Amino acid sequence: MANIKDRQKRYLVPGVTTYYEKPLVLVKGDGRRVTDATGRTYLDFFGGILTVSVGHAHPAIAAAVTDQVNQLVHTSTLYITEPMVDLAEKLAEITPGDLEQSFFTTSGTEANETAVAMAQLATGHQDVLALRHSYSGRSQAAMGLTGQSAWKLGGAGMALPIRHTQNAYCYRCPFGKTPDRCGLECARDAEAFIRTATSGRLAALIAEPIQGVGGFITPPPAFFQELVPIVRKFGGLFIDDEVQTGFGRTGKRFGIEHYGVVPDIMTFAKGLANGLPIGATVTTAAIGARYTGPTISTFGGNPLSMRAALATLNVIETENLTENARVTGLLLREGLEELSDRYPAIGDVRGLGLMQGLEWVRHDKTPAPDLAAEFLEATGELGLLVGKGGLYGNVIRIAPPLTVTVSEVREALELMNQATALVYAHHPELQDIPSTRIHYV
Ligand code: PMP
Repeated sequence: MANIKDRQKRYLVPGVTTYYEKPLVLVKGDGRRVTDATGRTYLDFFGGILTVSVGHAHPAIAAAVTDQVNQLVHTSTLYITEPMVDLAEKLAEITPGDLEQSFFTTSGTEANETAVAMAQLATGHQDVLALRHSYSGRSQAAMGLTGQSAWKLGGAGMALPIRHTQNAYCYRCPFGKTPDRCGLECARDAEAFIRTATSGRLAALIAEPIQGVGGFITPPPAFFQELVPIVRKFGGLFIDDEVQTGFGRTGKRFGIEHYGVVPDIMTFAKGLANGLPIGATVTTAAIGARYTGPTISTFGGNPLSMRAALATLNVIETENLTENARVTGLLLREGLEELSDRYPAIGDVRGLGLMQGLEWVRHDKTPAPDLAAEFLEATGELGLLVGKGGLYGNVIRIAPPLTVTVSEVREALELMNQATALVYAHHPELQDIPSTRIHYV
């Protein structure tokens, strides 16, 4: 293990970057805790990028997967298996509106690729609207959809007919507004943008209800009600990317439920199968009817991932985890706001439920990626795992498994308090930073 970083550097491409100066080699997980190769245990408040939704090594998931491993592992979408149809039926039942037809893949990237193809087939249009600061995945088209150049590998997907309209970044509102004076100019701007930057015939808008990799950017409640009708006016469908926000994470079943809009297509991955690879694209029968193919995914719909997903959804329901996310999320948010009150270099606190972000800044809201990196490093040393993100790399992402307890939230808050004090101790220049926090409505 000693030379694992050297071996990683030699045998994996350098694009595979990892958190932490000392390599963190995880070998075991249990609930909200993970253990590294030296035997040290950490409180996990990132869950493998919001993937471990019901906790590590949940017995119900382990039992379902073990049972399936002993029966049948894989067949491809060419054959009908019960777990695949069961999951499609379950998704039809719990998704909003009349969404009821699924196509399964093995990642969020593929789920979004599928959604865009579906929208193009259904509308006969090609142009796609995405939001600035978005993240959609790592295929050519998904990098094209992604609204952050750092994730485009030097320009992949940029030749596609995809344009990025304003997101709802209230902390840095490009229209100079604060939430109490917001006129949703960011959403309204889409009309002129579509008329100028596209053919005027849209296949779709793709958007995350809360932007994940973008730094947990959380739009005001009426954002999508303003934006989606504009998109529909130009013939486009609304693809709701719930890869990070789906299945209880935000304190409601889906992130978009906070926004009062019913999507035409939804995409899922990450937390749906509690860590097993999965991607799902769900749409209405009318839109699905145009997706005739032939189309196939070798591992999509594989019974292992399907069983894991069915068990995960069952645990979320029976353990009342959406409500737990709402309640513990409020406690987490309250503690983070207090932290920002004490340490205003944490300029913004935002998010919903168990998806909370901290944006690190210097004077005049100058993004401070170095401070975010030091905070991440300090929390790691103290035994807490969190994530990082944002266009400027200055946002800390906090997203524990939905099973998190009140005492674990308190423990994490105490560790974040200590980590912030350490960052401040290294940076006397932060002492006189005024608060720039905005108050979300
Ligand atoms: N959409 C969103 C919102 C995501 O956060 C991600 C992954 N970070 C993806 C799509 C791509 O998912 P995957 O990495 O499984 O391809």
